Amino acid sequence: MAKKTVKDLDVKGKRVLVRVDFNVPIKEGVITDDNRIQAALPTINYLTENGAKVILLSHLGKIDHKDPEKCEAGKKKNNMAPVAARLQELVSSKVTFVPVTRGEELEKAVAEMNEGDIVLMQNTRYEKGESKNDPELAAYWAGLGDLFVSDAFGSVHRAHASTVGIATHLPSACGFLVQKELENLGAAIDNPNRPLVAILGGAKVSDKIAVIDNLLNIADKVIIGGGMAYTFFKAKGYNVGTSLLEEDKVEMAKEFMERGKDKLVLPIDTVVANDFSNPTDIKTVDSDKIPDGYMGLDIGEKTVELFAKELQGCKTAVWNGPMGVFEDPRFAKGTEAVCKILSELPDAMTVIGGGDSASAAKKLGYKDKFTHISTGGGASLEYMEGKELPGIAIIEEK
Ligand code: ADP
Ligand code: MG
Repeated sequence: MAKKTVKDLDVKGKRVLVRVDFNVPIKEGVITDDNRIQAALPTINYLTENGAKVILLSHLGKIDHKDPEKCEAGKKKNNMAPVAARLQELVSSKVTFVPVTRGEELEKAVAEMNEGDIVLMQNTRYEKGESKNDPELAAYWAGLGDLFVSDAFGSVHRAHASTVGIATHLPSACGFLVQKELENLGAAIDNPNRPLVAILGGAKVSDKIAVIDNLLNIADKVIIGGGMAYTFFKAKGYNVGTSLLEEDKVEMAKEFMERGKDKLVLPIDTVVANDFSNPTDIKTVDSDKIPDGYMGLDIGEKTVELFAKELQGCKTAVWNGPMGVFEDPRFAKGTEAVCKILSELPDAMTVIGGGDSASAAKKLGYKDKFTHISTGGGASLEYMEGKELPGIAIIEEK
């Protein structure tokens, strides 16, 4: 059932279209974090070292094609040129940047490639048809290559021309980055060593319904923290003060509690403050004692102890969603405690999915302390929801 990987392809002398994730933060033409470029290097170097002609495609930022003025501004802002310059510093192969996404200049650059060369084309989102998986565009891009490699895990949950469309025309495989993601997420979600404990947090219940739903089916425990806990508190009949609350999800929370019974674990105490941006009074109260006018912003210490107990002995832990407003150090303690507990679990596979959870773990100094921190926020979330990822489904099986 495993997907083909680059190692299953005969790439020598072939034009290999590689969908990478070069969606890096750029401020005034300067890349502020090149992690994503670095992460694509194993696949790129493997291909060039094995005599492929490597044609790279990636999106960068967003471009509004509905409004001509915004479209021009978006193209200017999200030009791939600085990425090509950075890539050239990181690889020994020759990198040719093509500032367009179709036409003679692109075709000529590809025709002139030697084995081991790299061509990076302009931001795929310069094309209106990219995000609509336009068949003409997909066929055109596919015509530039002989093989397709999917290595942009952060984009595989989107059925776009560069992630899905091209793959319908060519023999395809996963790159090393996608392979690693599938191995780790697969081991944690599809085939976990048990007990499997899930820790779910973040802002809203509404963002996480599908994850809670799926994990209630497959996990042995589902621990809830973060902003969505207060909707569960409300469902229990507690006062939640001014905490984040989704009234229209209270019934849903009740259903989850009835279905989950002891499997579902909620915080027993919570850190509250009298104001979000300028709190003058911060204290910890039991979950059912949130005073009027106070807002829950983190889990409390008793909850940390409870969660630690629930996690003891687990063989697999998956985590999505911070336990509190970790961006503010005053409310980061619960998230940090969960990082620490997970990192110290003996013999457990620990996996983080979700963009904010991954950045929280990194920001708090736990970058290398987990088995796997997913590089794809939305994609890893959808994986945990049990959804099929279109950019993976389309890749050929071994
Ligand atoms: P992920 O990206 O990992 O899936 P989410 O996007 O669902 O996570 O949630 C992250 C956000 O949740 C963070 O910005 C954090 O500040 C917010 N959050 C966590 N706890 C609370 C809370 N008690 N009240 C309001 N926001 C919260
Ligand atoms: Mg998020």
